[in-house]
Amino acid sequence: MSNSPYTINHILEILNVVSVHKMNDAIIRKLVIDSRTVIDPEGSLFFALSAKRDGHRYLKDAYANGIRNFVITDEKYIDLFPDANILLVKDALLALQSLAKYNRSQYDLKVLGITGSNGKTIVKEWLYQLLTTDFNIVRSPKSFNSQIGVPLSVWEIEADHTLGIFEAGISKGNEMDALADIIQPTIGILTNIGEAHAEGFSSQSEKLQEKLKLFKATDLFIYSPEYTEGIRKSDLPGQQKFSWSFKEDADLKIVLVEPIEGRNYIRAKYKSAEIECLIPFVDKASVENGITCWATLLALGYTPEEADERLAKLTRVSMRLELKNGINQCSLIDDSYSADISSLAIALDFLNLQNQHAKRTLILSDLPETGKSDEVLYVEIAALLKQKNVDRLIGIGPHITASADLFEMESTFFESTQGFVENFPALHFSNETILVKGARKFEFERISKLIAQKVHDTVMEIDLNALAGNLQFYRSKLKPGVKVMAMVKAFSYGSGSFEIANLLQYHKVDYLAVAYTDEGIALRKGGIKMPIMVMSPEPSAFDAIVRYKLEPELYNLDILQRFISFVQDENYPVHLKIDTGMHRLGFEEPDLPELLRLLNETNKLKVVSVFSHLVGSEEGMHDAFTKQQIAQLKTATDLLSKGLGYEFIRHISNTSGISRHPDAQLDMVRIGIGLYGFDAGLHNNKGLQTVAVLKTTITQVKEIKANETVGYGRKGLLPEGGTIATVKIGYADGYNRAFGNGIGKMLIKGKLVPTVGVICMDMCMLDVTGLNVKTGDEVIVFNDKLTISTLAKQIGTIPYEILTNVSQRVKRVYFYE
Ligand SMILES: *Cc1c(COP(=O)(O)O)cnc(C)c1O
Repeated sequence: MSNSPYTINHILEILNVVSVHKMNDAIIRKLVIDSRTVIDPEGSLFFALSAKRDGHRYLKDAYANGIRNFVITDEKYIDLFPDANILLVKDALLALQSLAKYNRSQYDLKVLGITGSNGKTIVKEWLYQLLTTDFNIVRSPKSFNSQIGVPLSVWEIEADHTLGIFEAGISKGNEMDALADIIQPTIGILTNIGEAHAEGFSSQSEKLQEKLKLFKATDLFIYSPEYTEGIRKSDLPGQQKFSWSFKEDADLKIVLVEPIEGRNYIRAKYKSAEIECLIPFVDKASVENGITCWATLLALGYTPEEADERLAKLTRVSMRLELKNGINQCSLIDDSYSADISSLAIALDFLNLQNQHAKRTLILSDLPETGKSDEVLYVEIAALLKQKNVDRLIGIGPHITASADLFEMESTFFESTQGFVENFPALHFSNETILVKGARKFEFERISKLIAQKVHDTVMEIDLNALAGNLQFYRSKLKPGVKVMAMVKAFSYGSGSFEIANLLQYHKVDYLAVAYTDEGIALRKGGIKMPIMVMSPEPSAFDAIVRYKLEPELYNLDILQRFISFVQDENYPVHLKIDTGMHRLGFEEPDLPELLRLLNETNKLKVVSVFSHLVGSEEGMHDAFTKQQIAQLKTATDLLSKGLGYEFIRHISNTSGISRHPDAQLDMVRIGIGLYGFDAGLHNNKGLQTVAVLKTTITQVKEIKANETVGYGRKGLLPEGGTIATVKIGYADGYNRAFGNGIGKMLIKGKLVPTVGVICMDMCMLDVTGLNVKTGDEVIVFNDKLTISTLAKQIGTIPYEILTNVSQRVKRVYFYE
């Protein structure tokens, strides 16, 4: 058994270190790769990985966050911090992996390794639910299954764990061996094999062979022969095997799947008897994941009766935090994923990222089954809350209540959720961000319901991870040093205000830009501290611009003179817009001498950037014009910098400019629509993720007879009669009238259904003839299948307009994993 925790000296023995700057023999408990999300800075070892961006860029941030132990690959940083331990290695990822592998080899516990194309995370979480009463389990957080995620997960194995459950995911050949060596699974589980990630492989069978490498040394292999076609049973891994199948002879041969009352009843042949179970879900994927878990329980030796009893209690796995509006100007973060320390830390990070209210409140239940004693657990939690700036704690449950003394912030405790509910009015929630995080048995949905504003049935869901992914996609195209301005005008293209800006601030974009002063003020009031450019700074708002430290775009001599006469400061930051062909706003070439004269005559202004806007960056037919615009901006900026005697940031590229004109990046780019998942300059939107989903519900279903009509003006005709569904979205919500009379389509249960008749102000009607639908069913207006681009084509507009048309009356709900 190893003597965990590790020390620097011990780590030096394990790793192949080129050289070292050693300060002391610090104790290392955590391995971290992100300088921002640190739980235990003194006990953390930071790896400067160079996966997406050069990790060395974050050394200073990590140091500022209290980290004093580093693994680097660039020797010029070896003496960067005199009071830190700095280990220089050849390959930081390899070093991370070797530490995890070493840690795994110290323990002789049962380890379930899971791979497949789909269902890995659900199967992992369900097995955790199913086995948690019998084992002290360590598992991958969320879907940490990559070359980086796996070692971070496996490092968490400690002496008192009795079972590990880890998932492994690969996207190309030759990745699995490393993961197999780190996880060293004793039991292997293969989930659904689908088309996902087929690009990285020359064939399906190559992909399968690669995945199976995870199981090369397992004692037991659990699988369905339906996914191992073409491989002889004797060539499959595992000294023992356990198979399940719908079609073929197998250890667990499914003979019947029958939906009953929101669940699925499943019968199968097992050891020459018939056995059964109930899986409390209706969708196909859940049935299959449930069967995989069923097979695993049986293979582990549970009786069919025991397995049935446990499976019936499975609950839905949601890995998403939800951010929504609450009562009394509160923001609510709803997290019912799981109640353990690592998911608490993730949720607290998200809470910490919110700046819209000065006060941050946490409602937290007891954390059962962490495998730690209350003394250890709640001391750790108290330290975590302090570090993550929690101002107020409401603790619910006997264990956290007994540890009340440990918490230094304002706090209140209740023995049960019922106690909270009864005292709710006296808790006076107002103008704060509230994180609700509780173990399932505490039923914190009751609390969320009390705090959340009632959401009208039409909602726009915004996936913040997708937005961050899109930002990353464009960053990867930038040359080193090029800055990013994120366009968050028009309520972030309809997606939100401070919610989006908080995320962009966290991901360290350099600038934000809005169209009007009001939008900038809203961001400042939402706690956004970074520089914000205002593109149309109306003179009546100059006062507010200065008061809220916003930076105006000056676009002609008149507005320039007015701003100079208004402003009292020295060196007030401003941006100059040059017209190179858009002919909307901007200085033209003949204005430049006068512009220079005015700027040089005053010390009130400091030009921080000079820019122009491309008119056709997405289209090849305009490339010559685009080049001309870039050249014109260059001429103007050369003249200005010479005349001013100092340098400023130059920028011209919008989203499609980044994807199509690498030579137009200059010093900064301005990303707009690309962040939200669209780019007319890309051949397809591959690489971009869908950020917004607009959904509504059915309010009523009606049978229509032949020759009856539907809606205003009797425009809706169903000559043969049929069934219509009325849904709660109309033109006042942003669903354009042009979508009426069958032009627009929506998705119900995966089926496209057309509109009937005209679109009303608050509602519209759909033809659902032949479909089995009822009041309350979900209806998708747009998502990743029925895209905004498709909608835009239907009514002859562009994705920008579809997005920004969604009215403020439609509630936004934000998701973060
Ligand atoms: C809106 C806007 C952008 C962003 O354009 P996208 O095509 O959405 O990337 C860039 N610059 C200016 C001046 C804008 O008004």
